[in-house]
Amino acid sequence: MSDPFVTIPKGNPFSARTIFYWRLAQTLVWLVGAGILLSLFLLPKMGLLLFWNILIPVAPALFVFAPGVWRNVCPLATTNLLPRHWGLSQRKKLTATQLGKLNLLSVLLLYAIVPLRHAVFNTDGIATGLLIVILTTVGITLGFFYEWKSAWCSGLCPVHPVEKLYGSNVAFTVPNAHCHKCMNCVVPCPDSTPNIHPSASVKTIYHKLSGWLIVGGLPGFIWGWFHVPDHAYVAGINAFPGVYQMPLMGMLLTLSIYAIFAELVVPGSEKKLSGLFAAAGVSCYYWYRLPALFGMGDFKEDGFLVDLSSYVPFWVIRTFTIVLALLFFYWLVIRSSNKQSWAVRPPYANKFLK
Ligand code: SF4
Repeated sequence: MSDPFVTIPKGNPFSARTIFYWRLAQTLVWLVGAGILLSLFLLPKMGLLLFWNILIPVAPALFVFAPGVWRNVCPLATTNLLPRHWGLSQRKKLTATQLGKLNLLSVLLLYAIVPLRHAVFNTDGIATGLLIVILTTVGITLGFFYEWKSAWCSGLCPVHPVEKLYGSNVAFTVPNAHCHKCMNCVVPCPDSTPNIHPSASVKTIYHKLSGWLIVGGLPGFIWGWFHVPDHAYVAGINAFPGVYQMPLMGMLLTLSIYAIFAELVVPGSEKKLSGLFAAAGVSCYYWYRLPALFGMGDFKEDGFLVDLSSYVPFWVIRTFTIVLALLFFYWLVIRSSNKQSWAVRPPYANKFLK
């Protein structure tokens, strides 16, 4: 039976007209991204609001329903893939071990950078701007050497593990608006593999470890992260480890629970287990994030977008977060796998590469 929530592109997904519209979208989103980056340096208050309190809160929901859209228009990806689009990349292929190492490093980067938001990035526009510049520099450098998305978008990018965890049962499959021809540069390719999830690849110990860390660790990490206020530990460099304490404790807790569950599940049910932890993670995120955005968070000033506390009772926001959590659990755990990928794989460059 076809899934009523799934949209499959009709006609030729790689027609010149379709790709033209995607190029237009990439350019527009790139300009918005450049504007946000500039404002982080020139109008830090505005830049912080746009980046941390508008763009980032939308991302987890987008990863659940349509990660392919984000993969097509992410300004960092558009920049990092310019060397490949312009024929300036050496187009090297990574081995499975190298890819596994990059995947593990990306999870570690995520867990290392995100707690620093409380200490620096949430309140310092220039620091956030510099972080984006550093990540872009690393990404574009890798783009000069490695084939398509292998080294950054599907390798080292610290956002990628979250895309892979949340995006296991998407609503929209879109054309891949970056790779002209598939060079089979990542196996399995996260963009083109139906119902991809972090435990899908167990090629090396690095793949296994990265999958284990992101699936089991993220829900607890998110829970712990929301129990640390901004600016709490910036009195001295020695106090910096304080921002890691709660997220790491939460992470260890859910990792332990995951380790037990992983032992109990029957082979073939890894995706369901991964979906359960993904739903817990994304639900926990919005459970805390939505009240904070509307001035009803535990730490009044943190992550604040617009103060609705005088107009909307708290129970309305809480009801909304409960409905959202139910939707995520239905979407990622109960709903059967729809065999859709984030994006349609472009034609292989050469049948022997398949
Ligand atoms: S679609 Fe093909 S070329 Fe593009 S990232 Fe995936 S494997 Fe690489």
